[in-house]
Amino acid sequence: MNDISINALNKNSYCLLFNKDKVLSKKILGGSRFPSISEVEKLDINVSNIIYIGTLNEDDYYAANVLTEKIIKDLFFRHIGEMYGEIDENMFLLTLRALHFINWLNKNKYCSCCGNKIQIKPKETNIKCSNCGHIIYPRITPAIIVAILKDDKILLARSPHFPPKLYSLISGHLDPGEFVETCVRREVKEEVGINIKNIRYFGSHPWPFPNKIMIGFIAEYSSGEIEIDNNEIEAADWFPLDDLPHIPDYNLSFARKIIDSLLEVRKNK
Ligand SMILES: [Zn+2]
Repeated sequence: MNDISINALNKNSYCLLFNKDKVLSKKILGGSRFPSISEVEKLDINVSNIIYIGTLNEDDYYAANVLTEKIIKDLFFRHIGEMYGEIDENMFLLTLRALHFINWLNKNKYCSCCGNKIQIKPKETNIKCSNCGHIIYPRITPAIIVAILKDDKILLARSPHFPPKLYSLISGHLDPGEFVETCVRREVKEEVGINIKNIRYFGSHPWPFPNKIMIGFIAEYSSGEIEIDNNEIEAADWFPLDDLPHIPDYNLSFARKIIDSLLEVRKNK
């Protein structure tokens, strides 16, 4: 399924090798970097799904899959979240983009129209089926995330899938035909039973776990009592902004970015 061979790529290009959510990197003074193509060639590992993901600082970057997770010489597989702060912001965003492409390729081996095996072309980030011409774009799933304020308190909730004691913001997926603002109201009503008002856009963030774009909002409580759905949410409550429970604690979290911005505004009041 891959028309790209590692050996045919510019030796000075770089490659992000993924094993699930972990990526191979090398520690350098003051941070980390990804291996060059010539370094990847020297590794005795099978590489698949090689795809061009972009050019940064005049260097081409590719992403690919590997099945091993062993430590290779001075290269280490680390969760993508651990790379935050180890590489600069643009490189980190490129890493998120790379993971998104790899997740997509892993689940799209055949054309959805004719069943033909798909083939990746060099420097193309969508795939045109060589049999029927159908163009396959990477899937991007929009999801909302919202911080709800009531006086000096914030509504935080727990999903049954969260680590113990961790609380975060309400989030959910956009339905077909739905306005994003309607989705925010619906998800809040469904998951915690309250009505909200004054919904304001905060910002967005790529979230390739596996293929989302997170669209962030801040809203105010309007009416109703908390009533959790006991399915997606197992606990929810109002927490004083100066006495929060355990919230996502590493900087990859977009929820944490929204909460931190609210704390910053509060501090400057
Ligand atoms: Zn096809």
